[in-house]
Amino acid sequence: MKDMSPQAGNRSDRLHSLILDCIYQQVNTLLLDKPFDQWNLDHVPTYRMEQLRHWIFDQGCFNWEEMTNLPKSLRTDLKNKLDLVPMELHRTQGAQDTTQKFLWRLRDHQFIESVLIPATQGSKGVRASRLTLCVSTQVGCAIGCKFCASGLDGLKRNLSCGEIVGQILLARKQAQKRIDNLVFMGMGEPLANLPSLLPALDQILSPKGLGIGARHITLSTSGLAPKILELAKYPAQIRLAISLHGGDDETRQKIMPINHKFPLKELLHACETFIEERKKMITLEYILIAGVNDDLHQADLLTAHAKRLNAKINLIPYNRVEGLTWDRPSQDQIKAFYQRVQKGEPPRVTLRMEKGHDIDAACGQLRLKEIQKN
Ligand code: SAH
Ligand code: SF4
Repeated sequence: MKDMSPQAGNRSDRLHSLILDCIYQQVNTLLLDKPFDQWNLDHVPTYRMEQLRHWIFDQGCFNWEEMTNLPKSLRTDLKNKLDLVPMELHRTQGAQDTTQKFLWRLRDHQFIESVLIPATQGSKGVRASRLTLCVSTQVGCAIGCKFCASGLDGLKRNLSCGEIVGQILLARKQAQKRIDNLVFMGMGEPLANLPSLLPALDQILSPKGLGIGARHITLSTSGLAPKILELAKYPAQIRLAISLHGGDDETRQKIMPINHKFPLKELLHACETFIEERKKMITLEYILIAGVNDDLHQADLLTAHAKRLNAKINLIPYNRVEGLTWDRPSQDQIKAFYQRVQKGEPPRVTLRMEKGHDIDAACGQLRLKEIQKN
């Protein structure tokens, strides 16, 4: 009979992490974990390193055998010492011309997701061929927002720099197209993993890396106020989005426990400092959940915050998560909320009807299904 005692759960958890640790200890160093300008491998001349960089970043090549301008002995040597491929594609969902979700298996057999989103046909000023990639920064998430699939199973670990950059390189390879925009809105809290994220951003921004411009990169946070201040010091002008989801502390902490640690006053103050230092507009994201944060008083509070910060508002109707009871409001309520915000004349408001609603596009859902199978 199956042992259902709590101790059994702990035992199997411990065994699981022990197995993962063993697997992880056996893997080689991941080449991409170091920025390419720091690839000072023993006795390998700089021009050879440049050839290697070219294969990976410019050609999207992840196969040592194909790097034919590198001597075979060097390739064999590097192959024995280093891992080139940060993750394998485990599953895709969605079609190539619509939202497409990739479930990656990392070298220690953990799962993460990235979502490739084409621009809305005819969106104002946006070419329909443009591609946005939604990138993960952690396996799971420790923040534990009550509506989110990513946090349901807690945090497993931070992603490394190479695993963040790898998602973009490998998604680009899958799409066979340039990726124009990045949003750090996949699994995990980006600001809780700055030691990996900042060197990853350096490679993403560099013309010798992925060459994606800072204004095409948006980082979303649940509101780690001190880390927002730290990010304000990062030299590139990347965009910041705040997951607000409640106009007052009482409403916000019903669904976001992080609000106990960093209440609205502290969060908004950090945003003001960020804006002051960067001279850049930020976005307030607001998912609409029926009966939780969708009453018109919340719309007024949200508008007031946006006006105070001179911030854009992005309204997103909630995507249902299997196993959770939250739901999106009716179309009428969504419309009423949107119109009420508009009436308050904030700097800008958009209503985003989530693409990929039918393919578990909300972060963490595909991974959750995969780990529930095992
Ligand atoms: N941890 C960061 C970034 C990842 S989540 C953050 O919380 O901002 C990216 C966005 O997806 C956040 O605004 C989050 O609140 C939202 N989100 C999470 N689950 C969702 C769901 N089921 N439906 C709609 N949006 C969701
Ligand atoms: Fe983590 Fe963001 Fe999900 Fe909250 S919404 S649990 S911070 S990934």
